[in-house]
Amino acid sequence: MYNPASLKAEEFINHTEILESLSYADSHKNNLNLIDEILNKARKYKGLSHREALLLLDCTDEQKNAEIFALAEQIKKEFYGNRIVLFAPLYLSNYCINECVYCPFHGRNKHIARKKLTKDDLIKEVTALQDMGHKRLAIESGEDPINNPIEYILDCIHTIYSIKHKNGSIRRVNVNIAATTVENYRKLKEAGIGTYILFQETYNKKSYEELHPSGPKHDYAWHTEAMDRAMEGGIDDVGLGVLFGLEGYRYELTGLLMHAEHLEAVHGVGPHTISVPRIRHADDIDPSVFDNSINDDIFAKIVAVIRIAVPYTGLIMSTRESKECRERVIHYGISQISGGSKTSVGGYVHPEAEDDRSEQFDVIDTRSLDEVVCWLMEMGYIPSFCTACYREGRTGDRFMALCKNRQIHNCCLPNALMTLKEYLIDYASGRTATVGESLIQKEIMNIPNEKVRKIVQERLLDIQNGKRDFRF
Ligand code: SF4
Ligand code: SF4
Repeated sequence: MYNPASLKAEEFINHTEILESLSYADSHKNNLNLIDEILNKARKYKGLSHREALLLLDCTDEQKNAEIFALAEQIKKEFYGNRIVLFAPLYLSNYCINECVYCPFHGRNKHIARKKLTKDDLIKEVTALQDMGHKRLAIESGEDPINNPIEYILDCIHTIYSIKHKNGSIRRVNVNIAATTVENYRKLKEAGIGTYILFQETYNKKSYEELHPSGPKHDYAWHTEAMDRAMEGGIDDVGLGVLFGLEGYRYELTGLLMHAEHLEAVHGVGPHTISVPRIRHADDIDPSVFDNSINDDIFAKIVAVIRIAVPYTGLIMSTRESKECRERVIHYGISQISGGSKTSVGGYVHPEAEDDRSEQFDVIDTRSLDEVVCWLMEMGYIPSFCTACYREGRTGDRFMALCKNRQIHNCCLPNALMTLKEYLIDYASGRTATVGESLIQKEIMNIPNEKVRKIVQERLLDIQNGKRDFRF
């Protein structure tokens, strides 16, 4: 029985409801009156239900699709302006006891070099990330209670926050580790994490069980109910995602939005972020076994529809996507991207040799962070290294309230400009610094509140004179 407020995975991600939604969408496909109604509702910026979103996803009418993309772009501007937050993944360990058939870290893969960062390795990796200019990390680790117990993860988080190299510091550590207990989530919360991220991979229980044939991750309910345990443990910013390409994308989008509805129904707070990874080539993985891969057109549509359906949720796109694809899709609602990423353990200090590969997937966008920053600015975006919200206690429902009534703008733009200024002084190449300085001068005039604008101008001078870490 479908019940978004249930705490049972199979009731809030209900297979029958998904199938009925798919067939409802089939029977109303390209019903232009209905699509107009849905678009009018979406223009109120309150989001859409999973069924409404599915109708937009399935629409093939050219004119309506143009309206869908335009609305996604408009919502992005309304909620996020022209800012893009930057982050990098940091792989701690690729030891894993699970058997996910799409991931080279799976326990039976004997080709891959198994690595786990020691404290010294970690310090070097974080220093390298700081020297690139990163302030926000997403730490990643395989699941292995012997090699990567929660104590190891917690130690790593403490170490990461403690490293200060030159003007560098990591100010927000988001965590992407396997589903765990309420007690462990509480420990992560106490360690000061930002968002807890866990990709569902696929919402289809049958496929899920086949794709995860053994290991703790095999348990669909344990994995799907993880966000509820995280919230019970006090983590109120959680990040959802599916690995597009494992199952039919219509099924996945419906499940993803049902998960968001569930979090709203039970905890009063939707997901803080949604990620949209697509399956990629990796060691010991044959992409031809997955016949659900999605093309760039569908990918762009998925991003636009998520943007419209959950306007207040950050949308993340990684370096799994090419520069060309990122350039196209970013306008439809992406608010965060990674840059200069390595997906191997220790990869920021030691690039991988061909015969010693330990990366999780091939990075397609291999540009440096500096190139990504410059590219964003040349497209008219403000690259932001802001990490202010959770450090100011703006998390969970407090954050959502500010986001939903669009007051968060008042913090985001000043913080973006101040953190960009730090980047330009400490890390940018000559060209990036030139482009960035003129962008800051232009964008500062867009701060509507005169008093705030004056404070930002003073802070920018302070930063020029060596001070760091101002925030609203
Ligand atoms: Fe392990 Fe995660 Fe890879 Fe699965 S996806 S094999 S849990 S690292
Ligand atoms: Fe994100 Fe908050 Fe910074 Fe805005 S002010 S960019 S919402 S951390």
